[in-house]
Amino acid sequence: MQEVNTYLAGALKQARKEKDLSLDKAAKATGVSKAMLGQIERGESSPTLATLWKIASGLNLSMSGLLGPALNGPPTVFRNADALREQPTQDRMLVATLFPFNPALGFEMFELTLLPGYERYSDPHEPGVIEHVIVTAGDVEIYADGQWQALSKGDAIRFAADTPHGYRNMSTAPGVFHNLIHYPQD
Ligand code: MN
Repeated sequence: MQEVNTYLAGALKQARKEKDLSLDKAAKATGVSKAMLGQIERGESSPTLATLWKIASGLNLSMSGLLGPALNGPPTVFRNADALREQPTQDRMLVATLFPFNPALGFEMFELTLLPGYERYSDPHEPGVIEHVIVTAGDVEIYADGQWQALSKGDAIRFAADTPHGYRNMSTAPGVFHNLIHYPQD
């Protein structure tokens, strides 16, 4: 958790610098308070996933870009979810960034584990963002198009993520799925 926060602090500072944004302007763009942004940059605060998404959407960044380094280099790469899985925020959710966002490919791909009882509504992402959810273990529910859909191992759903959507696990065992988030090309 500490490592992720350190990375996040640097990534946020770097993004503000590249976009030439003051803390004030970044706060307006993201809806996250100036005080909170400052705390994150100093590694003094462990934000929720909802806050991370506000930052990502508001500054036009991918989620993976806030959590860890990009994968530059040749297309062929071996990754292992067990080695990558972490709890990056206080949310009851584990994240393995299998493939960080790559601008040429236009997507990032995670393995997400919802611990029992986890429920989160997500603000709409940027226009044109589409999510794919493929369940690999347990039971999860996805809120899309105004309703909760129950999914079990082997089930998959694709939905427009530029509208309100959500993720929850009402069962007593972890629910695991792959989440491929496609961003429209600029
Ligand atoms: Mn989402």
